[in-house]
Amino acid sequence: MKNSTKRLAGIIGWPISHSLSPKIHGFWLKTHKIEGEYLPLETDPEHLEYTLETLFERGFRGANVTLPHKEEAMKFMKFVSPQAEKLGAINTIIVHENGDLEGRNTDMYGFTENLKAASFALKSDEPIVAVLGAGGAARAVVAALQEMNFYEIRIINRTMDKARRLAEDLGGNINIFEWNESEKAMAGAELLVNATSLGMEGQPPLDIEIDALSDKAWVADIVYAPLQTELLKRAAKRGNKTIDGLGMLLHQARPAFKAWFGVDPEVNEKLRKFVLEKE
Ligand code: NAP
Repeated sequence: MKNSTKRLAGIIGWPISHSLSPKIHGFWLKTHKIEGEYLPLETDPEHLEYTLETLFERGFRGANVTLPHKEEAMKFMKFVSPQAEKLGAINTIIVHENGDLEGRNTDMYGFTENLKAASFALKSDEPIVAVLGAGGAARAVVAALQEMNFYEIRIINRTMDKARRLAEDLGGNINIFEWNESEKAMAGAELLVNATSLGMEGQPPLDIEIDALSDKAWVADIVYAPLQTELLKRAAKRGNKTIDGLGMLLHQARPAFKAWFGVDPEVNEKLRKFVLEKE
Protein backbone atom coordinates (compact mmCIF):
# COMPACT_ATOMS: atom_id res chain seq x y z
CA MET A 1 0.00 0.00 0.00
CA LYS A 2 2.95 2.32 0.66
CA ASN A 3 3.52 2.76 -3.09
CA SER A 4 -0.11 3.61 -3.79
CA THR A 5 -0.81 7.25 -4.73
CA LYS A 6 -3.93 7.10 -2.58
CA ARG A 7 -3.74 9.01 0.67
CA LEU A 8 -4.84 6.78 3.52
CA ALA A 9 -6.30 7.36 6.96
CA GLY A 10 -8.47 5.18 9.15
CA ILE A 11 -10.05 4.52 12.50
CA ILE A 12 -8.63 2.22 15.16
CA GLY A 13 -11.16 0.78 17.61
CA TRP A 14 -12.82 -2.39 18.89
CA PRO A 15 -15.53 -2.86 17.73
CA ILE A 16 -15.64 -0.38 14.86
CA SER A 17 -18.71 -1.25 12.79
CA HIS A 18 -20.90 1.37 14.55
CA SER A 19 -18.50 4.24 13.79
CA LEU A 20 -19.76 7.12 11.66
CA SER A 21 -16.22 8.40 10.97
CA PRO A 22 -15.79 6.48 7.67
CA LYS A 23 -18.96 8.19 6.37
CA ILE A 24 -17.81 11.65 7.50
CA HIS A 25 -14.32 11.42 6.00
CA GLY A 26 -15.63 9.55 2.94
CA PHE A 27 -18.07 12.42 2.28
CA TRP A 28 -15.31 15.03 2.49
CA LEU A 29 -12.90 13.01 0.32
CA LYS A 30 -15.57 12.83 -2.38
CA THR A 31 -16.60 16.48 -2.02
CA HIS A 32 -13.02 17.67 -2.41
CA LYS A 33 -12.18 15.08 -5.11
CA ILE A 34 -9.20 13.83 -3.12
CA GLU A 35 -7.73 10.51 -4.15
CA GLY A 36 -7.83 8.98 -0.73
CA GLU A 37 -9.48 6.45 1.47
CA TYR A 38 -10.55 6.28 5.12
CA LEU A 39 -10.58 2.70 6.35
CA PRO A 40 -11.85 0.89 9.43
CA LEU A 41 -8.86 -0.63 11.27
CA GLU A 42 -10.58 -2.94 13.71
CA THR A 43 -8.00 -3.72 16.38
CA ASP A 44 -8.36 -5.67 19.60
CA PRO A 45 -6.28 -4.54 22.60
CA GLU A 46 -3.66 -7.25 22.00
CA HIS A 47 -2.90 -5.92 18.53
CA LEU A 48 -2.96 -2.19 19.26
CA GLU A 49 0.83 -1.82 19.28
CA TYR A 50 1.14 -3.72 15.97
CA THR A 51 -1.52 -1.56 14.27
CA LEU A 52 0.15 1.63 15.44
CA GLU A 53 3.70 0.68 14.59
CA THR A 54 2.75 -0.46 11.07
CA LEU A 55 0.71 2.63 10.12
CA PHE A 56 3.71 4.30 8.46
CA GLU A 57 4.87 1.27 6.44
CA ARG A 58 1.31 0.68 5.25
CA GLY A 59 1.15 4.24 3.91
CA PHE A 60 -1.25 5.80 6.43
CA ARG A 61 -1.04 9.54 7.01
CA GLY A 62 -2.92 9.13 10.23
CA ALA A 63 -5.84 7.62 12.05
CA ASN A 64 -8.57 8.27 14.54
CA VAL A 65 -8.55 6.34 17.78
CA THR A 66 -11.74 5.34 19.53
CA LEU A 67 -12.88 3.07 22.36
CA PRO A 68 -11.24 1.24 24.04
CA HIS A 69 -7.83 2.56 22.91
CA LYS A 70 -7.99 6.32 23.53
CA GLU A 71 -5.78 6.17 26.62
CA GLU A 72 -3.56 3.18 25.84
CA ALA A 73 -2.61 4.47 22.37
CA MET A 74 -0.94 7.51 23.96
CA LYS A 75 1.92 5.31 25.16
CA PHE A 76 3.02 4.62 21.59
CA MET A 77 3.17 8.26 20.48
CA LYS A 78 6.49 10.05 19.93
CA PHE A 79 4.72 13.38 20.50
CA VAL A 80 1.49 14.23 22.33
CA SER A 81 -0.24 17.62 22.03
CA PRO A 82 -0.69 19.63 25.25
CA GLN A 83 -4.49 19.21 25.05
CA ALA A 84 -4.25 15.43 24.74
CA GLU A 85 -1.71 15.37 27.56
CA LYS A 86 -4.12 17.33 29.75
CA LEU A 87 -7.03 14.99 28.95
CA GLY A 88 -4.96 11.80 29.20
CA ALA A 89 -6.38 10.49 25.92
CA ILE A 90 -5.94 10.85 22.15
CA ASN A 91 -8.51 10.55 19.37
CA THR A 92 -6.32 11.54 16.40
CA ILE A 93 -2.91 10.38 15.18
CA ILE A 94 -0.74 12.19 12.65
CA VAL A 95 1.93 10.10 10.96
CA HIS A 96 4.88 12.38 10.23
CA GLU A 97 6.98 12.02 7.07
CA ASN A 98 9.74 10.21 8.98
CA GLY A 99 7.21 7.80 10.53
CA ASP A 100 7.00 9.50 13.94
CA LEU A 101 3.53 9.35 15.46
CA GLU A 102 1.87 12.41 17.00
CA GLY A 103 -1.24 12.07 19.20
CA ARG A 104 -3.83 14.83 19.46
CA ASN A 105 -7.27 15.19 21.02
CA THR A 106 -9.86 17.10 18.97
CA ASP A 107 -12.91 16.36 21.18
CA MET A 108 -12.55 19.67 23.03
CA TYR A 109 -12.47 21.51 19.72
CA GLY A 110 -15.49 19.54 18.47
CA PHE A 111 -17.56 20.38 21.52
CA THR A 112 -16.68 24.09 21.44
CA GLU A 113 -17.30 24.44 17.70
CA ASN A 114 -20.68 22.72 18.02
CA LEU A 115 -21.75 25.23 20.67
CA LYS A 116 -20.49 28.12 18.54
CA ALA A 117 -22.32 26.81 15.47
CA ALA A 118 -25.54 26.83 17.52
CA SER A 119 -24.79 30.49 18.49
CA PHE A 120 -24.57 29.64 22.17
CA ALA A 121 -23.18 32.59 24.15
CA LEU A 122 -22.63 33.25 27.84
CA LYS A 123 -25.17 35.64 29.37
CA SER A 124 -24.31 36.51 32.95
CA ASP A 125 -21.11 37.80 34.54
CA GLU A 126 -20.69 34.61 36.54
CA PRO A 127 -22.04 31.88 34.26
CA ILE A 128 -22.61 28.39 35.66
CA VAL A 129 -22.73 25.11 33.73
CA ALA A 130 -23.88 21.70 34.97
CA VAL A 131 -22.29 18.60 33.41
CA LEU A 132 -23.63 15.08 33.81
CA GLY A 133 -20.77 12.56 33.68
CA ALA A 134 -17.09 12.26 34.51
CA GLY A 135 -15.84 9.75 31.90
CA GLY A 136 -13.48 10.32 28.98
CA ALA A 137 -15.85 12.50 26.98
CA ALA A 138 -16.81 14.54 30.05
CA ARG A 139 -13.12 15.39 30.52
CA ALA A 140 -12.99 16.95 27.04
CA VAL A 141 -16.31 18.75 27.63
CA VAL A 142 -15.17 20.18 30.99
CA ALA A 143 -11.80 21.28 29.60
CA ALA A 144 -13.63 23.03 26.73
CA LEU A 145 -16.01 24.74 29.17
CA GLN A 146 -13.04 25.96 31.21
CA GLU A 147 -11.63 27.60 28.09
CA MET A 148 -15.01 29.26 27.50
CA ASN A 149 -14.58 31.01 30.84
CA PHE A 150 -17.46 29.57 32.80
CA TYR A 151 -17.34 30.93 36.33
CA GLU A 152 -18.38 27.61 37.87
CA ILE A 153 -18.51 24.09 36.44
CA ARG A 154 -20.72 21.67 38.37
CA ILE A 155 -20.12 17.99 37.71
CA ILE A 156 -22.80 15.48 38.59
CA ASN A 157 -21.68 11.86 38.47
CA ARG A 158 -22.75 8.48 39.83
CA THR A 159 -19.21 7.51 40.88
CA MET A 160 -17.88 10.30 43.07
CA ASP A 161 -14.28 9.08 42.94
CA LYS A 162 -14.21 9.53 39.20
CA ALA A 163 -15.64 13.05 39.50
CA ARG A 164 -13.05 13.88 42.17
CA ARG A 165 -10.22 12.64 39.95
CA LEU A 166 -11.50 14.71 37.03
CA ALA A 167 -11.69 17.82 39.23
CA GLU A 168 -8.16 17.23 40.55
CA ASP A 169 -6.70 16.61 37.09
CA LEU A 170 -8.31 19.61 35.41
CA GLY A 171 -8.17 21.93 38.44
CA GLY A 172 -9.82 25.32 38.69
CA ASN A 173 -13.46 26.17 39.04
CA ILE A 174 -15.03 22.69 39.36
CA ASN A 175 -17.51 21.59 42.05
CA ILE A 176 -18.79 18.05 42.25
CA PHE A 177 -22.28 16.82 43.10
CA GLU A 178 -23.81 13.44 43.91
CA TRP A 179 -26.27 12.06 41.35
CA ASN A 180 -29.19 12.74 43.74
CA GLU A 181 -28.09 16.39 44.07
CA SER A 182 -28.61 17.09 40.40
CA GLU A 183 -31.45 19.57 40.97
CA LYS A 184 -29.24 21.64 43.27
CA ALA A 185 -26.50 21.57 40.62
CA MET A 186 -28.85 22.64 37.83
CA ALA A 187 -30.30 25.62 39.69
CA GLY A 188 -28.90 28.81 38.18
CA ALA A 189 -27.05 27.03 35.35
CA GLU A 190 -27.01 28.65 31.88
CA LEU A 191 -26.15 25.36 30.26
CA LEU A 192 -26.72 21.67 31.04
CA VAL A 193 -24.61 19.08 29.22
CA ASN A 194 -25.19 15.34 29.21
CA ALA A 195 -21.74 13.78 28.85
CA THR A 196 -22.75 10.34 30.14
CA SER A 197 -23.60 7.43 27.88
CA LEU A 198 -27.15 7.37 29.29
CA GLY A 199 -29.88 7.84 26.70
CA MET A 200 -27.75 6.32 23.96
CA GLU A 201 -29.17 3.43 21.91
CA GLY A 202 -28.53 0.22 23.82
CA GLN A 203 -27.83 2.06 27.09
CA PRO A 204 -30.19 2.76 30.01
CA PRO A 205 -32.31 5.92 29.76
CA LEU A 206 -31.17 9.17 31.35
CA ASP A 207 -33.70 9.31 34.13
CA ILE A 208 -33.21 12.77 35.59
CA GLU A 209 -35.49 15.68 36.49
CA ILE A 210 -34.69 18.98 34.81
CA ASP A 211 -37.39 21.11 36.46
CA ALA A 212 -34.79 23.00 38.50
CA LEU A 213 -33.25 24.29 35.30
CA SER A 214 -34.23 27.77 34.12
CA ASP A 215 -36.27 27.75 30.89
CA LYS A 216 -33.68 30.24 29.55
CA ALA A 217 -30.91 27.67 29.96
CA TRP A 218 -29.48 25.71 27.01
CA VAL A 219 -29.35 21.93 27.04
CA ALA A 220 -26.70 19.99 25.09
CA ASP A 221 -26.36 16.25 24.73
CA ILE A 222 -23.19 14.64 23.40
CA VAL A 223 -25.06 11.39 22.71
CA TYR A 224 -25.93 11.40 18.99
CA ALA A 225 -27.74 8.05 18.58
CA PRO A 226 -30.61 8.79 18.75
CA LEU A 227 -30.12 12.34 17.52
CA GLN A 228 -33.06 13.69 19.49
CA THR A 229 -32.47 12.10 22.88
CA GLU A 230 -35.22 11.98 25.50
CA LEU A 231 -33.33 14.71 27.40
CA LEU A 232 -33.35 17.03 24.38
CA LYS A 233 -37.02 16.30 23.69
CA ARG A 234 -38.01 17.10 27.27
CA ALA A 235 -35.87 20.24 27.29
CA ALA A 236 -37.35 21.50 24.01
CA LYS A 237 -40.86 20.89 25.34
CA ARG A 238 -40.24 23.21 28.30
CA GLY A 239 -38.76 25.92 26.08
CA ASN A 240 -35.03 25.30 26.52
CA LYS A 241 -32.81 25.74 23.47
CA THR A 242 -31.11 22.45 22.60
CA ILE A 243 -27.93 21.26 20.90
CA ASP A 244 -27.54 17.67 19.69
CA GLY A 245 -24.35 15.58 19.83
CA LEU A 246 -23.85 15.00 16.11
CA GLY A 247 -22.28 18.43 15.62
CA MET A 248 -19.52 17.61 18.12
CA LEU A 249 -18.72 14.42 16.22
CA LEU A 250 -18.61 16.23 12.88
CA HIS A 251 -16.51 19.15 14.14
CA GLN A 252 -13.96 16.97 15.97
CA ALA A 253 -13.25 15.31 12.59
CA ARG A 254 -12.31 18.58 10.85
CA PRO A 255 -8.78 19.19 12.23
CA ALA A 256 -7.86 15.56 11.54
CA PHE A 257 -9.05 15.73 7.93
CA LYS A 258 -7.10 18.94 7.43
CA ALA A 259 -3.91 17.43 8.85
CA TRP A 260 -4.14 14.27 6.72
CA PHE A 261 -5.57 15.57 3.47
CA GLY A 262 -4.64 19.29 3.45
CA VAL A 263 -8.17 20.73 3.17
CA ASP A 264 -10.23 22.33 5.96
CA PRO A 265 -13.63 20.74 5.28
CA GLU A 266 -17.02 22.24 6.04
CA VAL A 267 -19.63 20.95 8.47
CA ASN A 268 -22.96 21.66 6.78
CA GLU A 269 -26.51 20.37 6.43
CA LYS A 270 -25.58 18.20 3.45
CA LEU A 271 -22.99 16.36 5.55
CA ARG A 272 -25.38 15.99 8.50
CA LYS A 273 -28.04 14.54 6.20
CA PHE A 274 -25.60 12.14 4.56
CA VAL A 275 -24.26 10.89 7.89
CA LEU A 276 -27.78 10.35 9.26
CA GLU A 277 -28.96 8.38 6.21
CA LYS A 278 -29.40 4.70 6.93
CA GLU A 279 -27.22 2.39 4.80
P1 NAP B 1 -17.13 6.57 29.61
O1 NAP B 1 -15.73 7.06 29.80
O2 NAP B 1 -17.41 5.12 29.74
O3 NAP B 1 -18.07 7.39 30.66
C1 NAP B 1 -19.42 7.07 30.82
C2 NAP B 1 -20.11 8.07 31.75
O4 NAP B 1 -21.50 7.71 31.83
C3 NAP B 1 -19.58 8.07 33.18
O5 NAP B 1 -19.72 9.33 33.74
C4 NAP B 1 -20.53 7.07 33.85
O6 NAP B 1 -20.66 7.24 35.24
C5 NAP B 1 -21.84 7.42 33.19
N1 NAP B 1 -22.78 6.30 33.28
C6 NAP B 1 -22.78 5.17 32.55
N2 NAP B 1 -23.79 4.36 32.93
C7 NAP B 1 -24.43 5.01 33.95
C8 NAP B 1 -25.55 4.70 34.77
N3 NAP B 1 -26.22 3.56 34.60
N4 NAP B 1 -25.95 5.61 35.69
C9 NAP B 1 -25.28 6.77 35.86
N5 NAP B 1 -24.22 7.12 35.13
C10 NAP B 1 -23.79 6.25 34.18
O7 NAP B 1 -17.69 6.97 28.17
P2 NAP B 1 -17.30 8.27 27.31
O8 NAP B 1 -16.18 7.94 26.40
O9 NAP B 1 -17.14 9.41 28.24
O10 NAP B 1 -18.59 8.45 26.40
C11 NAP B 1 -19.82 8.92 26.95
C12 NAP B 1 -20.83 9.14 25.81
O11 NAP B 1 -20.40 10.21 25.00
C13 NAP B 1 -20.99 7.95 24.86
O12 NAP B 1 -22.36 7.79 24.60
C14 NAP B 1 -20.26 8.38 23.62
O13 NAP B 1 -20.82 7.82 22.44
C15 NAP B 1 -20.50 9.88 23.64
N6 NAP B 1 -19.47 10.63 22.92
C16 NAP B 1 -19.89 11.50 21.97
C17 NAP B 1 -18.95 12.24 21.29
C18 NAP B 1 -19.40 13.18 20.20
O14 NAP B 1 -18.55 13.57 19.39
N7 NAP B 1 -20.67 13.57 20.18
C19 NAP B 1 -17.57 12.13 21.57
C20 NAP B 1 -17.19 11.24 22.57
C21 NAP B 1 -18.14 10.48 23.24
P3 NAP B 1 -19.68 6.48 36.28
O15 NAP B 1 -18.46 7.31 36.35
O16 NAP B 1 -20.47 6.44 37.51
O17 NAP B 1 -19.42 5.11 35.68
